[in-house]
Amino acid sequence: MPELPEVEVTRLSFADRIAGATVTGVRVGKPLRWALGCNPQSLQGRVVQGVRRRGKYLLVDLDQGLLLWHLGMSGSLRFSDDRRPPQAHDHFDLDTSQGLLRLNDPRRFGAVVYADGEHSPEAVKLLGHLGVEPLNGTFDLTAFHAGLKKRKTAIKQVLLGGELVVGVGNIYASEALFLAGIRPTLRAERVSRPRAEKLRLAIIDVLTRAVQKGGSTLRDFSSADGQQGYFQLQAHVYDRAGAPCRVCGTAIRRMQQGQRSTYFCPVCQKP
Ligand SMILES: [Zn+2]
Repeated sequence: MPELPEVEVTRLSFADRIAGATVTGVRVGKPLRWALGCNPQSLQGRVVQGVRRRGKYLLVDLDQGLLLWHLGMSGSLRFSDDRRPPQAHDHFDLDTSQGLLRLNDPRRFGAVVYADGEHSPEAVKLLGHLGVEPLNGTFDLTAFHAGLKKRKTAIKQVLLGGELVVGVGNIYASEALFLAGIRPTLRAERVSRPRAEKLRLAIIDVLTRAVQKGGSTLRDFSSADGQQGYFQLQAHVYDRAGAPCRVCGTAIRRMQQGQRSTYFCPVCQKP
């Protein structure tokens, strides 16, 4: 599943190239998770102002209105001059004077939704509940710690919920908790302010490095086959059950939390 770093690297891969382009056509394929919400023909002639990211949504700003793109479970975007006919899993095309932006999504949990503005009801429905962005300087310790204090569930579940801070998926939550020395099962309300600060910095660090790593493989995104790249860091705990901790040598443990696998070092990560 594309997580925040993959979405950010996707944005970086085409934002500059599509800015200033005029929409020349829209092709809607098989139904996606949500309907487009406007007549596709009505987008013709509009000009792309730029591409922003909010959580795991890409916001393609037009001179009138915007398009919200979500990659769902299996989606990937490609922006290129290659206008070959759509393949079986290509479900949305935004054709422009500077290239074709194409959504490939085998499982069709992704979507492209039109909104009149960022604060219009159709946009607020998707973006309104999102927590702060971890990478734009708004992820503040006091608000983060106050939010943790109000929650009795396990810290890892709180991170995955995205209400306090967006974009910390399963891989990155496991890694950040390791770096902060916090056991994933610790109740959020019991995280002290100093530990909350360690965790905040670890989240920023892990996501920043993932974006950088993805940035170095940017070419993969415009490759002809359109395959999505994943940027797994040299993981400390994620997917390493039974392997020795890179810090203390103890076997990494795996457990179920919610529906997801959680990995941790029983020595380095304190309850
Ligand atoms: Zn360890």
